[in-house]
Amino acid sequence: MTERIPLAIPNIGDREIELVNEAVRSGFVSSVGRFVSEFETQFAEYVGAKYAVACASGTAALHIAMRLAGVQPGDLVAVSDFTFMASSNAASYQFAELLLVDSEPESWSMDVVKLRAELERRKAAGEKLPKVIEIVHILGQPADAHAVIELAAEYGITVIEDAAEALGAVWTEGPLAGKHVGTVGQMGAYSFNGNKIITTGGGGMFTTDDEALAQRAKHLSTQARLPDRGYLHDEIGFNYRLTNVAAALGIAQLERLDEFVATKRAIARRYNEAFAGTDIQTPPDLPGKESTYWLYSIQVPASRGEHARDELQDFLAEVDIESRSLWRPLHMQPPLKAEAVIGGEVGEDLFARGLSLPCSTDLTESDQDRVIKRVLEWIQLAGE
Ligand SMILES: *Cc1c(COP(=O)(O)O)cnc(C)c1O
Repeated sequence: MTERIPLAIPNIGDREIELVNEAVRSGFVSSVGRFVSEFETQFAEYVGAKYAVACASGTAALHIAMRLAGVQPGDLVAVSDFTFMASSNAASYQFAELLLVDSEPESWSMDVVKLRAELERRKAAGEKLPKVIEIVHILGQPADAHAVIELAAEYGITVIEDAAEALGAVWTEGPLAGKHVGTVGQMGAYSFNGNKIITTGGGGMFTTDDEALAQRAKHLSTQARLPDRGYLHDEIGFNYRLTNVAAALGIAQLERLDEFVATKRAIARRYNEAFAGTDIQTPPDLPGKESTYWLYSIQVPASRGEHARDELQDFLAEVDIESRSLWRPLHMQPPLKAEAVIGGEVGEDLFARGLSLPCSTDLTESDQDRVIKRVLEWIQLAGE
């Protein structure tokens, strides 16, 4: 009997248990306690942001960013079409209208050329322009943020980075060289959900270089309560703070982030080598962008028929290997049917053919070999 190989599971060690124990024993189990502020400081230092505010989830961090960008009902938010729905939910919570922007086929992230053409068209036609451009660093891959920032500056638009999936990813060339994803727009958001590269069970982080925004983020995340003797609130806030217990877990995980990133990259290298020379398409690996390969995802060749992705997934499931399809693009989501979309075909194709393979940071080489062997076997069978 073989053991089931999961897609991606948390990697919790002794240090995590030690710090969580300490947090629980201290009695400070809720949103007060030293771990929250320590986690914020260490996180900001790691990614190179001036300020970090811990949040209850990545979605909460994104929602706060939308609020701070001043997104009001009916405002337009441009967002990558090919992403997990949390990216747009944050804008929808503010009753924004969406402009869904298709991906480039090479990077799988927002097609800035298409977005620029659309903004020019809207401007000429006197139509609504976005208040925010939200770029998503998809699957650990840095997006084309520099081009987005330049475009946004021309139009006076705020840039929010959804870096939920890409903590640890960096640019190595060009104007953003040396920068971490999530630190180059006005505001960034990260997630520590159970399947992300580091986890706090559930949690997120808001980052910015702007002190006023950071203070407002903390204020909004704590019910907008003023430091007054009585309960005085100067606006409608949220209960979006991370707990001290979760932050303790986060600190221990952050200590291991470099190790996790190196492991994810090693896993990607082994898969890439194994699939070279087959018609399996490996994930983007572009000059100047160092992906973490958070979820290693392949594209099943179109020539294998329209159900090939599902067939491969079923084939792997039968031998106890978990895999998962990529996201259905936002323009195909029922609640977003009426939103504006630029293109959409690239995202549809990525969805139709995309499959994420096991890539837990504790995946053994022999388990990875088992996955590789089965994928190659399927390629042969499907090719006959
Ligand atoms: C996971 C994820 C989020 C949301 O993070 P949560 O912590 O689960 O709320 C947002 N955007 C993307 C692209 C994600 O993958």
